[in-house]
Amino acid sequence: MSDGIADGPPALTHLEPHPALGNRLASAPGILCCLDFDGTLAPIVEDPADAELLPAARAALERLAGDPTVTVAVVSGRSLADLRERVDVADVVHAGNHGLELDEGSASTVDPEAVARRPAVEAAVARLRAELDGVPGCIVEDKGVTASVHYRRTPDEHVPTVREAAREAAAATDGLRLTEGKRVLELRPDVPGGKDRAVRRLREHHPDALPLFVGDDVTDEDAFRALPTEGVAVLVGDREDTAASIRVPAPDDAAAFLHWVADVRADADGPGAGT
Ligand SMILES: [Mg+2]
Repeated sequence: MSDGIADGPPALTHLEPHPALGNRLASAPGILCCLDFDGTLAPIVEDPADAELLPAARAALERLAGDPTVTVAVVSGRSLADLRERVDVADVVHAGNHGLELDEGSASTVDPEAVARRPAVEAAVARLRAELDGVPGCIVEDKGVTASVHYRRTPDEHVPTVREAAREAAAATDGLRLTEGKRVLELRPDVPGGKDRAVRRLREHHPDALPLFVGDDVTDEDAFRALPTEGVAVLVGDREDTAASIRVPAPDDAAAFLHWVADVRADADGPGAGT
């Protein structure tokens, strides 16, 4: 525990002082690069419908996805269809709805237990839309196998109403549970695991790759904890209570980090290394 500074991971403000991390990334036979979307590759915006991949992040994804030794996976709470449209980079794996939906290009799968809960999600969405109709700035989003209640634009005095309605809808509907992110409540199928489930499935398909996960929200902590000890967990932001081993301040810095990973790999597989 470093003196005077909270127990969070050290800030990765300059990448050069991390030669050990560089060596680990360079010497791995491959990299499984898992990335959250909102707050990580795209700045958080008032209306989630307006979120866009940062140009620097897009360029980094293209570089990494173009490296045959790197698998890039975007793991998000967004639906698979929404995520695909926003990312739109060739050869990127998409894991939507916190990994309940996985599209690896050659195969696209939806968790069967989640499919079975679809009627429950539908009932909860109908109930919440009726109850929260008229609450300013509140959006109830039907994401197929999950639902989100966004309240980023809701005035504070209405937030308890939103929270209570979501809690009651989850309690009244069999097979769903309530989870929370940044100004969003989510109703998800009551199956074990969140983004960690996606990370485990991806690791099964890429067992020799060094896994890396970059994310900003509390829902990313499940994924951080699912990494093996040699894995690299990167928190975007300043939360102190985290399982991440390093942190960057904001999505711009996350993009810079990804470019650095691409540089490290390019040097490692550079001329003479053979690909
Ligand atoms: Mg996020």
